[in-house]
Amino acid sequence: MILRYATLLGLTAAFVVGGVAVVQHVKNAQAQAPGISVTPAAPQAEPAQPDASPPPDVTAPTAPAMPLTPTVENPLPENPTPLVNAPPAETTPPVVAAPPVETPAPAAKPAVADKKDSIAAKLLFAAQKLPTLGKAMAIGYYPRGCLQGGVELPVNGPTWQVMRLSRNRNWGHPSLVNFLEKFAPAAAKVTGWKGILIGDMAQPRGGPLPFGHLSHQIGLDVDVWFMPMPNHTLTPEEREKTSASNLVADDWKHLNPATWTPQHIAFIKTAAEQPNVERVLVNAVIKKELCRADPKASWLEKVRPWYGHHDHIHVRLACPADSPSCRKQPPVTGDDGCSDKALAYWFSDKVLRPAKAPPTTPVKPPKPVTLADMPPACKNVLDAPAKQATKTN
Ligand SMILES: [Zn+2]
Repeated sequence: MILRYATLLGLTAAFVVGGVAVVQHVKNAQAQAPGISVTPAAPQAEPAQPDASPPPDVTAPTAPAMPLTPTVENPLPENPTPLVNAPPAETTPPVVAAPPVETPAPAAKPAVADKKDSIAAKLLFAAQKLPTLGKAMAIGYYPRGCLQGGVELPVNGPTWQVMRLSRNRNWGHPSLVNFLEKFAPAAAKVTGWKGILIGDMAQPRGGPLPFGHLSHQIGLDVDVWFMPMPNHTLTPEEREKTSASNLVADDWKHLNPATWTPQHIAFIKTAAEQPNVERVLVNAVIKKELCRADPKASWLEKVRPWYGHHDHIHVRLACPADSPSCRKQPPVTGDDGCSDKALAYWFSDKVLRPAKAPPTTPVKPPKPVTLADMPPACKNVLDAPAKQATKTN
């Protein structure tokens, strides 16, 4: 146990020294204490925190409908949206030492719990290599929560392959795995592609990620690349080094004619039309083209512009019925988001040419999110016994 925390503290120090700080501004994003069922102890009895500040997606006038951030591949500079705070700093995956050996956590003593509360939650969750036992449950909000009873998407399927295996992010709520198992063949069919390439889902127990995303925390978000699966089974190395194709031109105002194809419309439409899909995020250039190509389509309202997303879609599923403490995001309003007014922000200098802070401005890293900032049940998720993986190919 001591070793485990020493390792985690060491990791914390390494992250601080390395300057890896994911900006976290989504405040009070979650509250209720769900009845987690994996531990013999009673569910956490802490009172629910009132959700003082509305989620960014409620208030943002230009409808960036979810507090999602650019991925690490995103070359766009950091820039705040009108009411959503700055997305996390672009980071490359830090070199992380081997995680501590997975052992079932003994009942926490108060002093130990205190110590854990001070460790960045992203380190605690990233160190978990297996999901919890217990029934699947998405806990909290997409950018502030965790996952109980996560299931693994096999890294190879008839019509999909999972990329970036080193990240161990091919986990999700069963509804996400079900979605991908249906979407992959459907997308292959409408595009004529051999299959799809799947990027990040969630960590085995969800939670904050050390790099790359603010959301993807509760097992209901997935990135799918804008390119066909190749004919061969990719090697692990190819899955690390291959880049997704960028559909947007260098000016960030037009499509890239060398990579854009009409099949991409069918691909996005198919994702948006799957049951339980609430949002599909794409770059604004792509959104604009969808509006032009199919102006009356009802699925357009689910497809929203967001930073990055020039080389992948981000699909977000609705809270599943088995997850009472999953916090719903506001439903789409029926506005297709295609008006010039709706799209203008995304092509403004504020997004495309944001002012840089003077180099002398000291940059204070934000306080990392700790377990104390998360839904109380996420402590149980972290401490719960592991479900042994059934090895997938
Ligand atoms: Zn994503």
